[in-house]
Amino acid sequence: MAADTDKALVVLSGGQDSTTCLYWAIKRYGVNAVDTVTFDYGQRHRIELECASRVAAFAGVPNTLLPIDTFSALGGDALTDPDIEIASDVEEDSGLPNTFVPGRNLIFLTFAAAYAYQRGIGHLVTGVAQTDYSGYPDCREGTMTSLQHTLRLGMESEITIHTPLMHLSKKETVELARDLGALPAMEHTHTCYNGERPPCGACAACELRAQGFAAAGVEDPLLTSS
Ligand SMILES: [Zn+2]
Repeated sequence: MAADTDKALVVLSGGQDSTTCLYWAIKRYGVNAVDTVTFDYGQRHRIELECASRVAAFAGVPNTLLPIDTFSALGGDALTDPDIEIASDVEEDSGLPNTFVPGRNLIFLTFAAAYAYQRGIGHLVTGVAQTDYSGYPDCREGTMTSLQHTLRLGMESEITIHTPLMHLSKKETVELARDLGALPAMEHTHTCYNGERPPCGACAACELRAQGFAAAGVEDPLLTSS
């Protein structure tokens, strides 16, 4: 199927970054040309799925929940195994925190590309960032460039992966969200590693989010609403 270069699919996690990407896509392609997918990969914080649905509804775009139950069966990471406590520091052997789910973005984007292919959507948008404090290797630009190449080969399609946040700091991501008019939607997003709503304010994810908003001089709508 020929990919329609006027349509975009956003991988929406329910977090701040993918919500910013959603508004980036809406501005670029128009609200009627944007679709979203959310993956249920057995993440411990089910609230993320609810947040993604609420963000999409708030923005006026469709949202499809796609199940992938394999990661929790593989085990070993803190996001899908409730027996592993989330640690913010890196592990000695891998140099990565235990929140790294190996292959996650590769699988997500491959499924997203398949979804896009079936609907003739030519653009994928994802909130991965190289500046991500965790240093996840599947968030890097080289991985995305390589994956786009593989998807184009493997699907005989001209699909393009967009990563609007790739080189932005957390401060710059908040500024982009503000400039795109995405701030009101932030009330519906979820970031807290402890799965709390209102957020705990103490975990590494909450701290990072707070630092970004503070550095940008913007109030976090999630905090002022709760
Ligand atoms: Zn928290």
